[in-house]
Amino acid sequence: MIRAVFGGTFDPIHHGHLETSSALMKELGIDRLAFMPSATPPHRAQPEASAKQRLDMVRLACKGYPGFEAEDWELKQTRPSYTASTLAELSEHYPGDTLIFVMGMDSLMSLNQWYQWHDIIKHAHIVVMPRSGVSFEPQDSELKRFIEQHRVYQPGILANSPDGKLYIAQTPLIDISATELRSQLHERPASPPIPTSVYEYIKTNKLYL
Ligand code: ATP
Repeated sequence: MIRAVFGGTFDPIHHGHLETSSALMKELGIDRLAFMPSATPPHRAQPEASAKQRLDMVRLACKGYPGFEAEDWELKQTRPSYTASTLAELSEHYPGDTLIFVMGMDSLMSLNQWYQWHDIIKHAHIVVMPRSGVSFEPQDSELKRFIEQHRVYQPGILANSPDGKLYIAQTPLIDISATELRSQLHERPASPPIPTSVYEYIKTNKLYL
């Protein structure tokens, strides 16, 4: 089976993650997609919510969407979250499955800064969702070559090989970022772009104040 894994901080998970992922499942023709919060993101500022709180919010959000689930793999590890290592472990843990690692366009454009980034595609396909305000313009020549070398234009191809392909999806642009959202949540707005259950959790736990 195809196992799609969407990695991120999810501090907090929002409609930008959820609605695009919903569209992605239809585009790729897959039935399940797992959101995998990272424990200690090595290449960025530390999250405001704890690992457990981010996982709780992902779990709550998934309840509203058929086929979504939470993957706590990285949170169970004692080492830092390096995607290349996680995908190597997951491919061993789920032998026979085709892994798809999902990311937004901003992540692809900075992929060459990730730890052992060439190895990420050795254990999974990479599927990239467009993001508003981020053009597809790789600056780094090695990253440009990497994309050209692995890119496929038909999502159907992903099912025919276990790893090594990169596909840029045609999912809708939803202009939400967690950074901006956190500063809005500070004001406790009436209807932020997150599931109601997640907002209730944020208020109960006094997050992002
Ligand atoms: P930040 O504002 O801090 O960058 P974020 O909104 O990007 O946060 P993350 O949890 O860091 O949220 O993102 C996890 C993954 O989701 C990244 O690969 C990111 O590119 C992607 N992503 C986040 N928001 C969107 C969105 N609105 N549309 C498509 N992809 C998104």
